[in-house]
Amino acid sequence: MAFSNFGLSPQILEGIKAMGYVEPTPIQLRAIPLLMQGRDVIGSAQTGTGKTAAFALPILSKMGEPTDKTRFLVLEPTRELAAQVETAIHDFSRFTQLRTAVLYGGVGYGRQLDELKRGVDIVIATPGRLLDHMGRGTLQLNNVQFLVLDEADRMLDMGFLPDVKRIVQKCPRERQSALFSATIPPQIETLIQWAMKDPETIEIGARRSPAETVEHVIYPVAEGQKTDLLLQLLERVHYESVIVFCRTKHRADQIAHLLKRNQHAVAVLHSNRTQREREDALAGFRKGKYEVLVATDIASRGLDIADVSHVVNYDVPQHPEDYIHRIGRTGRAEASGDAFTLMVAGDAQHVYAIERFIGQKVPRVKLENFTYQYTALFEEEKQGQKGGFPGKVRGARIKGGYFFGPSRRR
Ligand code: AMP
Repeated sequence: MAFSNFGLSPQILEGIKAMGYVEPTPIQLRAIPLLMQGRDVIGSAQTGTGKTAAFALPILSKMGEPTDKTRFLVLEPTRELAAQVETAIHDFSRFTQLRTAVLYGGVGYGRQLDELKRGVDIVIATPGRLLDHMGRGTLQLNNVQFLVLDEADRMLDMGFLPDVKRIVQKCPRERQSALFSATIPPQIETLIQWAMKDPETIEIGARRSPAETVEHVIYPVAEGQKTDLLLQLLERVHYESVIVFCRTKHRADQIAHLLKRNQHAVAVLHSNRTQREREDALAGFRKGKYEVLVATDIASRGLDIADVSHVVNYDVPQHPEDYIHRIGRTGRAEASGDAFTLMVAGDAQHVYAIERFIGQKVPRVKLENFTYQYTALFEEEKQGQKGGFPGKVRGARIKGGYFFGPSRRR
């Protein structure tokens, strides 16, 4: 199946060609025909599956000529995601005359007001700033025909659901809606029933499986050796670009500082940084000015940072879904990548929860020639995991590590 079979507009097909997309991804294959037919769609797919194009290509095709009225609205949980989706939509629609504005907080109103004054067909926004504009009377939603709620579960986590509801209420009832969410908790189910019309649900792959192109392993380590192990890993592994995930902003700053002291080119991304710093970090990382990006979950979820060769979970994520989101940074759209998780004794229950969630045991490995201090985790395999995932260890290609315990490859 090629893009040309979907009935997309010639201008959008040209845009797809210019992007270098040859074949639709699985979510695009399922979502594009439904959206072209006018159906409401719920998409639950892993990050990096091509979901932006899955909703944007059919909607942009249906928009036709510009009218200066906001007809297509996309809500995103973070400024970074809003900016990223705006770039993608701008690229897809480059052979049309459609006009786009991106609205998010943390920056002045000047440019956003200028764009809105000129009239825009498409708005990509975070809920808070969008409501500000509506309150000021600088944006009306009474012409919205297409509404996309992206990363709905993250908007829920961030407490945006009441804002989202207020926004949806201002859109005409006669519209087409799509909602994307990695998980569908009950509050999102309620939102779906309230905001969508007879939606079709598309699940791509197992909702819980991590990106299949990623090889992931766990490095058990004593608490006091975490930073040494991180430094050694970065020293020994051949990476092009790596994201190091930390649990807190404070820890992210500490680790960034440590890596800088060890001659790594490092940027930091977390929600206490100014918009300018965040943009600089992302742009520099994309361009290769920084080889390491140290980030917290909230700042980085869903970001499309291409060609990340490695993800290191300096801290084990506390929510199993975050594990999938984090390692989804690598192995995006067919590329392969490696994901390393440092695990200390106190992380055991979180690791087992992740393994149950993804339905797979993550291999434990040790770094060769690293002088390990003893940790009870080294006995983990012998003791058996209470409540752990009972399945077999899946084979993995390991660089710079080796299996230990009963699962060691002989
Ligand atoms: P997304 O899941 O929308 O963040 O997309 C992930 C990455 O895949 C982005 O870099 C897209 O440009 C890329 N992508 C999306 N669809 C395709 C496709 N059909 N062929 C190649 N790359 C794609």
